[in-house]
Amino acid sequence: MILQVRDMKVRYGAIHALHGIDLEIAPNEVVALIGANGAGKSSAVKAIAGLLPYSGEVVYDGAPLRPAGAERNVRKGLVLVPEGRGILGGMSVEENLLMGIYSRPDQKAAQADVEAMMERFPILGERRHGKASLLSGGEQQMLAIARALLARPRLLLLDEPSLGLAPKMTSFVFDLIGSLRRDGLSVLLVEQKARQALKISDRAYLLETGRIVASGSAESLANDDVVSETFLGGR
Ligand code: ATP
Repeated sequence: MILQVRDMKVRYGAIHALHGIDLEIAPNEVVALIGANGAGKSSAVKAIAGLLPYSGEVVYDGAPLRPAGAERNVRKGLVLVPEGRGILGGMSVEENLLMGIYSRPDQKAAQADVEAMMERFPILGERRHGKASLLSGGEQQMLAIARALLARPRLLLLDEPSLGLAPKMTSFVFDLIGSLRRDGLSVLLVEQKARQALKISDRAYLLETGRIVASGSAESLANDDVVSETFLGGR
């Protein structure tokens, strides 16, 4: 397993956001974490990334992570693309991409990777000197994922990448996530667009008010009548 989360609890003062969740991700697996608004999905990925205090254990690549070690975790290849993307709109597309390589020890190769990323996503290359805020929502999501990839992740945590995107751009982003698996990455995908997320995932966990209430292969969950009614808005 590349990631094992055991009995993770997160609270904000008196509010308990996670009541002890367990989940795991195998190498090269895309795993969806699905649930309604406020179910605790963002809390889970932020805690795993090392941005929120938690109790319980997160084992990454065989070793327990220290809580609140976000920057250290990035160097180990555990990288979060946060909800809302974390793009700095006043900076250029290229400057945003360059932020992705700050943790890389091999700066020369990393610079070459920035160029390669602009070839992989030509729209980013065309807009390299333009302000990131002038990109469309979908292009900004592309930029956020490209920046995360430049940190050379082994496990990518994506928090609602399709939020606010038009249907065409949503499909683009989901296709892109599918292609990351082909590149050998592992992905934890937080989504409210459950049906589409299940289509590109190997397995999924369903989160309801801080507890995992179902898990299994993406296919079996998509075909389960109760899950379908409760989480997927029927068939
Ligand atoms: P969303 O899709 O709306 O982001 P989510 O499933 O990601 O929802 P979380 O954002 O993790 O859910 O929130 C889980 C619970 O914790 C909710 O009840 C939320 O109101 C609460 N919560 C989240 N952040 C804070 C905070 N900073 N302070 C207090 N309560 C919070």
